Amino acid sequence: ERVETFLRVRENKAGKEFKVVLGARSAIFLPFRDLGLIIIDEEYEQSYKQADPAPRYHARDAAIMLADMYGAKVILGSATPSFESYHNARSNKYGLVLLDERFNRITQPEIIIADIREAYRKKQMTSYFTPELFSLMEETLAEDRQMILFQNRRGFSLYIECFACSWIPSCIHCDVSLTYHKNQHKLICHYCGYAIGVPPRCPECSDPQLVTRGFGTEKLEEEVSVLLPGYSIARMDFDTTRTRRRYERIIRDFEGGQTRILIGTQIVTKGLDFDNVGLVGVLHADNLLNFPDFRSFERSYQLMAQVAGRAGRKDGRGKVVIQTTNPSHPVIQHIHSGDFHSMYMSQMEERQAFQYPPYSRLLRINLRHENREFVDKASKQLAENLRKVIPVPVMGPQSPIIGRIQRMQLMNILVKLPRSARMADLKKLIKKEIDDIRSRREYRKLFIVPDVDPV
Ligand SMILES: [Zn+2]
Ligand SMILES: [Zn+2]
Repeated sequence: ERVETFLRVRENKAGKEFKVVLGARSAIFLPFRDLGLIIIDEEYEQSYKQADPAPRYHARDAAIMLADMYGAKVILGSATPSFESYHNARSNKYGLVLLDERFNRITQPEIIIADIREAYRKKQMTSYFTPELFSLMEETLAEDRQMILFQNRRGFSLYIECFACSWIPSCIHCDVSLTYHKNQHKLICHYCGYAIGVPPRCPECSDPQLVTRGFGTEKLEEEVSVLLPGYSIARMDFDTTRTRRRYERIIRDFEGGQTRILIGTQIVTKGLDFDNVGLVGVLHADNLLNFPDFRSFERSYQLMAQVAGRAGRKDGRGKVVIQTTNPSHPVIQHIHSGDFHSMYMSQMEERQAFQYPPYSRLLRINLRHENREFVDKASKQLAENLRKVIPVPVMGPQSPIIGRIQRMQLMNILVKLPRSARMADLKKLIKKEIDDIRSRREYRKLFIVPDVDPV
């Protein structure tokens, strides 16, 4: 199908056969003739970046270059723009058009922040639900409306643990604990797919009591069906949407009103518009905020704003309850006030102070080897060599959050390239050092993967 499209575009002389091509990120490689306009919807989407395998490119940024070569125009669309694009718009590199009204004139939802910790302390929790969320769930159903419950963890529990000795089953190929999937009665690694049956007793101390910790969408579905019996529930996550047919069926049933309660991971945020959703509940916002990355505030703001945006009714105002253990967190506060601009301003201050994008460009050099000693030694050597030859900040080496995936031990080096730097010269110097390490016999099984503008 791809080849066919490629050939059709190539044969499309003077736009006689068709004028518009719809495509995913790879569409930017089609052999256009007289390209006039590129529209990139949801431009903040991380999936525009192809990180693995090569070619590593960001389709949005590549499209902007492509348009420049053709003298074409580009429209980037988003309700929650990436800070980079918003920065470019504010510094007049791009033009900015604001749409202040929601589609169909649906009013912005009311946002309620619920304190999980306080509710626990006062013993007011119903399962995973604060009194704020649970009472609105009952109200919404009584009013004959639908709801979406969001939890960005799939599976039943995050992991299981031996009650006696605290043993936690983990993946044999990766440094992560295995997620419990009750329907399949399996423990599964979400990084490499490694799966085992649930052991009947602890292999360390033989205690039969293995308890579940944390909760995913599967557990949430079970809890809701017990607490609110008689309502049709659907779950939408990676596990229930493996085929297009199942995915479409979940959407259709919710659109048609057959499903009253939709439980899901971020899949539910992807551009779906329903007109009878009275309530959206975010079960645990902290999951999003505590990710150690300079973009984590931006990302969690975007994600929460998108989830909240699913609350909408033709005839009234939808409600959103965000449950958190940290109600005073700046991102939560900005979501509450719906203030994208001040969120952006406070983050930009930090990025400028620490020279993160858009104030610099990043180059991440990832090193992989089966042996921890080798990858440590090679990455240390490379970082040292780089510091000697390039006049820009070199950070690391440091182990990523998950230091081993699919048997490969990982290390990262981060290079901050100032906007003013002469990129071509730097590139040559960096490449020379990488090639030097690569050419050494002892490192012949080492992979070095440089990625410019990693996301
Ligand atoms: Zn044990
Ligand atoms: Zn694994």
